Amino acid sequence: MTTKSQETHRKTIPTPSKILLWAMAAGRCEKCGKILYKHPLTGTDGNYAQIAHNHPVGKRGPRFEHKIDSSLNIDDVSNLLLLCAECHKEIDDNPTLYTVEHLKNIKQTHETCVYKATDFEHIKTTTVIKYAANLHGRSLSIDNISDALFPEKFARNIIELGLKNSSWNTSDEAYWSYESQNLEKNFKNKVLPLFDNSNNERKDFSIFALAPIPLLIKFGTLLSNKQRIDVYQLQKSPTQTWRWQNSNTRVKYTTNYKNCPTSIKQVVLILSLSGKPLIDTIQSTVSFENSLVVEITTDTTPYEDFLKTRQQLDDFIKEYLKTKEEIRSICKQVVPIHLFAAIPNAIAVEIGRHRDTTADLPLITYNLTNNKYHHALTIGDTNE
Ligand SMILES: [Zn+2]
Ligand SMILES: [Zn+2]
Repeated sequence: MTTKSQETHRKTIPTPSKILLWAMAAGRCEKCGKILYKHPLTGTDGNYAQIAHNHPVGKRGPRFEHKIDSSLNIDDVSNLLLLCAECHKEIDDNPTLYTVEHLKNIKQTHETCVYKATDFEHIKTTTVIKYAANLHGRSLSIDNISDALFPEKFARNIIELGLKNSSWNTSDEAYWSYESQNLEKNFKNKVLPLFDNSNNERKDFSIFALAPIPLLIKFGTLLSNKQRIDVYQLQKSPTQTWRWQNSNTRVKYTTNYKNCPTSIKQVVLILSLSGKPLIDTIQSTVSFENSLVVEITTDTTPYEDFLKTRQQLDDFIKEYLKTKEEIRSICKQVVPIHLFAAIPNAIAVEIGRHRDTTADLPLITYNLTNNKYHHALTIGDTNE
C-alpha cells in the first residue's frame, strides 16, 4: 500500500534545485528558523532537513489546487520549502491555515532575511586586533569576537599579537622589557602596515585585549588615533561576553587629591575602579613624601565587572583627560607619574591610546604580584 506521504514525495527533486534551496534558506527551517545541518542536541553534522513542495506533486497532496498553472515546474526552487520535520508535519496537516499563498510569504520572508543578514559585501567590516595570552578560563574565541561585533560589524581579518611567556614572572623586571619589545615588534610587523592611510580611507579596528595592565597601556600607546578604533571589554557576569551592553546606567567618576605638597617631586596616581589598590602596599613601593597623590574612583564600591557600556568607558576617558590636565598644571615641571591601577582592560588600553607623547608626564607603571607592587614599564622619558 502506498501511503499518502510516499506518494506526495516519491519523485526525487533535482540536485540543482536542492542546492539552490539550501543556499537561499541558509540551512535553516524556513518556517521556524531552526538549524538543519546539525542535530539540535548532539550537534552532529548531518542533513536534518525535509523539503516540501508548496504546490504538491500529486493530486492527493496537501494544498492541491485544480486551477494550478500548467507551466509551473513543480520542482523549481520557487515551489520548494526547506523545513524541519515538525514544521513540515504542521503545514501538511493544516492546509486551510497554511495555504499556498501563506507558505509563499513564509518562504519569501525567510529568504529575504537571509539575504540581508549575509550581505557581507555591504556590512561594515573591521580588522580585529587580538592581544592576549594566559586566558585563565577567560574566553576569547572567534565566536566571542563575532558575537561582540554583531550586528554592527563583521570581522574580515583577525590579527593576533600573542604574548611570549606562558609562565608569568611578573615580579621580574626582565619579563616586562621582554614582553614590551615583543609587542612592539609584532605590532610593527603585523599592524603598522594596515595603518597606511594613503588612500584616505579611515579603516576600522576592533580591539580585544587580555594582558597585564602595564602591557595593555603600552599596547594602547602603539594604537594610532588616526584610525577608527573600538575597544571591547570582557564581562564576566551574568555570562562571559565581550559584547557592550545597551544600558543607560552611568558610572560617576571622581578625582580626589589626597596629598598636595608645595614642592612636588613626583605624582602618585591611583585608579580605584575594578578594585582598590591598598595605600600601605603602594607606600611600601613609593614614598608619598613630596608626592602629589591623586585618586580616581567611582561613586560605588569598586568591583571587577563594573564596566558594561561604551558610555561608561567614554565617561572615564573624559575624567582621566581632565585629571591629567590638572596634574600637569599643578606640577609646573616634568615629574614622573607613578601609576597604581586596578582597572578593566579596556580602560588600560584607552589610557595608553590617550597619551600625548609630547605633552604628557612620563608614566611609571607597576604590577601587583604576591601583594607587592613591582615596577613594570616606564612609558615616556624620565630623564628630562
Ligand atoms: Zn521548523
Ligand atoms: Zn509535504
